[in-house]
Amino acid sequence: MKKIGIIGGGISGLYFANILNNHKDYEYKIYEKLKNPRVDVGYGIQLSVNSIKLLNKIGFKNIPASDLSFPTKINFFNLNNNEKISEIDLKQFNDNQNRYTTLKRSTLLKFLIQNIPESKIKYNVTLKNVENSNIIKANFSDNSSENFDYLIVTDGALSNSRSLVAENEILPKFNNCLALRANLKQNTNHDISIFMGPKFHYVVYPVNQKNDFNFVAIFKKKLSKSELNNHNIYQSENFLSFFKKILNSYSDIKFENLEETKVFPIFISNKIPISKYKNIYMSGDALFTFPPSFAQGASQSIETANDIFQCINNNSKKKYQIRLKKILSVNWRSKLNSFAFQVSNPMLIFLRNFLFKRLLKSKLFLNYYIGKIYNE
Ligand SMILES: Cc1cc2nc3c(=O)[nH]c(=O)nc-3n(C[C@H](O)[C@H](O)[C@H](O)COP(=O)(O)OP(=O)(O)OC[C@H]3O[C@@H](n4cnc5c(N)ncnc54)[C@H](O)[C@@H]3O)c2cc1C
Repeated sequence: MKKIGIIGGGISGLYFANILNNHKDYEYKIYEKLKNPRVDVGYGIQLSVNSIKLLNKIGFKNIPASDLSFPTKINFFNLNNNEKISEIDLKQFNDNQNRYTTLKRSTLLKFLIQNIPESKIKYNVTLKNVENSNIIKANFSDNSSENFDYLIVTDGALSNSRSLVAENEILPKFNNCLALRANLKQNTNHDISIFMGPKFHYVVYPVNQKNDFNFVAIFKKKLSKSELNNHNIYQSENFLSFFKKILNSYSDIKFENLEETKVFPIFISNKIPISKYKNIYMSGDALFTFPPSFAQGASQSIETANDIFQCINNNSKKKYQIRLKKILSVNWRSKLNSFAFQVSNPMLIFLRNFLFKRLLKSKLFLNYYIGKIYNE
C-alpha cells in the first residue's frame, strides 16, 4: 500500500484524491489550510472538454443538468459600441459524451469533496517542512508528522509549500491586473460573451439553468507594493468606485446589478518550478498560474493531477514531462489572449478585429490554437 500526502484541498488536490478513491492500493490524506470545507465559494468556472473527460470518469455526469450550463459559442464584442466581432463554435471540440461546461465553483467543489471520507482531510493545517530520505517525512504546523511515499503539493497560486520542495522557487508575479468577480441575474444570453475594451475586458456566462450568471472583469491597474499587500483596500470605497466608474461608462452591465462583488489581484507564473525530490510533485496553480484569459487554470489542474497519478502508478515521469510542455503552450496562448482582449491602440484594435473575423472561421487555426489544448 503506497501512502500519499496531498497539500491543499482545492480543485487539483481533490481531483487527485478522487482518482485514488478508485485505486485501492493507495492510501491518502489531504492537508488543508482552511478551517472548514470551502464549498461555499460563489462565482463561476468554465471547464473545457479536456477536463470534462477526466471529471466524467469520476461521476461528474451525475450532477443534475440544471446545475450546469453547456454554452455552445464564445461571442466576442467591441466594448465601445457592443458590436459583435466574431464567434467561436465550441461544439466542434465536443463529442457525444463530453461538452464544454460552465458551472458554479461551489458545484464543482461539492462534487469533488462528496466522496472524500472526513477522516481523510485534515483542516487548519499547513506544511512546515519535509525531510526526504527513502521515505518522505512531512512535518505540519500543528506539530504532527507523517511519513509518505509521495507528496503532492497543490496549495494554489500563493503556495507556501512550494518553497519547501522546489529547487528553484519562482514566485508568481502580480501582472498589473485586477479581477472583479460577481454574480449576475437576468442575463439572457446562454453562451459565453467576451467584451473587449482598451485596458479592460469582461466575460459573462451562465453557471446553471436557473438564470445565474458569472461576471468577471479584468482591469489593467498598477499597484504599489504596499497596496498589493493590503487586502483591505480591494473592497474599499475608493477601489470600488474606480471599477464602478469604468463599468458604468463603458458597459451595458451596470455595477449596481452585480451581486457579491469581489476584487483581487492576479498573479501569474513565468517559470515552472522543479521539485528537489523524486517523489514530490507540484500540481495546479502551485505548479503554474496562468493569466485567466484562456480559462484553462482549473482544467490544467485536473489534467496535471491525472498525469501525476499515471506517473506514480506506472513508475515513469514521462506524462509529467509532457504536461510541463503543454503548460507552456497554454501559457503563451493565455498571454496572447490577455493582450488581444485589452489592446488600446486604434490600429491594433482594427488589426485584432480583422484577425478575429478571419481566424475564428478557420478550422485549421482553431484546431491548432484551441483543439490542441482541448483535445490532444
Ligand atoms: C479571475 C479568474 C478566473 C478564472 N476562471 C477560470 C475558468 O473559467 N476556468 C478555469 O479552468 N480556470 C479558471 N481560473 C483558474 C482556476 O481558478 C485555478 O487555476 C484553479 O482554481 C487552481 O486549482 P488549484 O487546486 O491548483 O488551487 P486552488 O483551487 O486555489 O486550491 C488550493 C487549496 O490549497 C489551500 N491552501 C492554500 N495554502 C495552503 C497551505 N499552505 N497548506 C495547505 N493548504 C493550503 C487553499 O485553501 C485551497 O483550498 C480562473 C482564475 C482567475 C484568477
